[in-house]
Amino acid sequence: MKRSVIRDHGRSRTGSRITLRSIRATMLNHSVNDLGADEMHIAGGCHCGAIRYEVEGEALTHALCHCTDCRRHAGAPMVAWTMYPAAAVKVTQGQPKVYESSEHGRRHFCANCGTGLFYVNEQMLPGIIDIQSGTYDDPDVVPPMIHVQVAERIQWMERAHELPVFDRYPPQQ
Ligand SMILES: [Zn+2]
Ligand SMILES: [Zn+2]
Repeated sequence: MKRSVIRDHGRSRTGSRITLRSIRATMLNHSVNDLGADEMHIAGGCHCGAIRYEVEGEALTHALCHCTDCRRHAGAPMVAWTMYPAAAVKVTQGQPKVYESSEHGRRHFCANCGTGLFYVNEQMLPGIIDIQSGTYDDPDVVPPMIHVQVAERIQWMERAHELPVFDRYPPQQ
């Protein structure tokens, strides 16, 4: 197996541990308080509706992850993750399946429709859960703040925002 077991999702480019301290330090410059996120209550779920969850409180960060593991697991160029203390998130319906995407990385998804929901890594980020914010009922409620793992970003993603845009598919004049 060629894939590194230490690279999964949360490792920084230098391979150093990402700690709550470093996350909070980042937050000093990018506070979600600016977004009015205090006392926030968020609901979300998978595509088929079998799994529903609720989140209370303030996201520690919201990162767009370009790592290879997120890309392959989601089948998408990048994945948006909001980070919370584990206790802030409650699954209110259904039971996600857990996939061991690396030695310590655990990706929770709906076994019926395949939607990726949560990421947990008890060794690197104990007590923390990441949520795929695209599964929020209102994904606009917490805007993203940073891009991470751009060392593994698909090259054309760097300029994707410059492409022609159309309201609908197929494109219409
Ligand atoms: Zn990732
Ligand atoms: Zn589902």
